[in-house]
Amino acid sequence: MKIRLTTSLILLALICGLGVGDAHPQTPAMPVPCRVGYQAPAIGFWTWAANARVKVYIRSADFSPEDIPYLLAPLENWNSVSELTGSRVKFEYQGSTDVQLSCENCLTVMRGSVFDRSKRHATELRAYSLQHDQVINYASIIVDPVLTNPKALRDAIAHELGHNLGLLDCYTCKQKSTLMNQFKTINEPNNLAAPTSCDIAQVRLAYQELKVRVRPSPPPRRSIDQGEEPIDDDTPIIIPKPRD
Ligand SMILES: [Zn+2]
Repeated sequence: MKIRLTTSLILLALICGLGVGDAHPQTPAMPVPCRVGYQAPAIGFWTWAANARVKVYIRSADFSPEDIPYLLAPLENWNSVSELTGSRVKFEYQGSTDVQLSCENCLTVMRGSVFDRSKRHATELRAYSLQHDQVINYASIIVDPVLTNPKALRDAIAHELGHNLGLLDCYTCKQKSTLMNQFKTINEPNNLAAPTSCDIAQVRLAYQELKVRVRPSPPPRRSIDQGEEPIDDDTPIIIPKPRD
C-alpha cells in the first residue's frame, strides 16, 4: 500500500511536472523581447579579450576641444555595464596622440574618409588581430569629416563600441531597441549613447561564446555588405574555414 502511494505520488509529481512544462515551454537562451533582427543585434563580430583594459587615445588635432567630452561619454556608458555584460572590458582614456597606435589593447579615435551614403555610416571600426581571429589586439574608430554635430559624434562612437564588443549592425531592429540600428540622418543624433538591455544581453552572449570558441577574424565589412541592401546587413556572416 505504501509502495502504491509512493508510486501515485511520483505519478502525480510527473503529471504536475508535465503540466508546468506545457505552461512554460523551454525558453530559448534569449528572452523574447530581445529577438535578433527585431530588438537585438546578432553577435559574432570583433571583440576585445575578456577583462581587457583598452587604452583609448584620441587624435586630438582631428577634433575640437568641445568634442572631446562627447567622444568620451560613450566609453563611460559602456564601462558602467562591463560587469553586466560579463565582458569586464574597460575603456580607459589616455589622452591625445598624433598617430594611429598599434600597441596592445590600444584604441585610436581619429578622423578619416569613411562615409558610406547607402549605409548612412559615417564611422568605421578598423580592428586588427595578430592571431587572425576575432579577438582584437588593437583598433581604430575612424570618424568621417561629415560628422560634426557633437551629439551625433557621441552616438556614433557608442555604436562603434558595440561593434568592438561583438555586435553586428541591426538595420531591421526596432528604433531605440539597440545602439546597432542605422542612423536615420547623417550628422543628426539618434539620442542613443548608452547600450540598451538587448545590447547588454547580446554582448553577454558574445562573451559567453568567446569562452567556448574563438571565431576567425570577421571579413572586411565591404565584402560582407557586397551586393546586399542595407536592410540585410545583419544576415549571418558565413565564416570561412580557418586555414591550417
Ligand atoms: Zn555599424
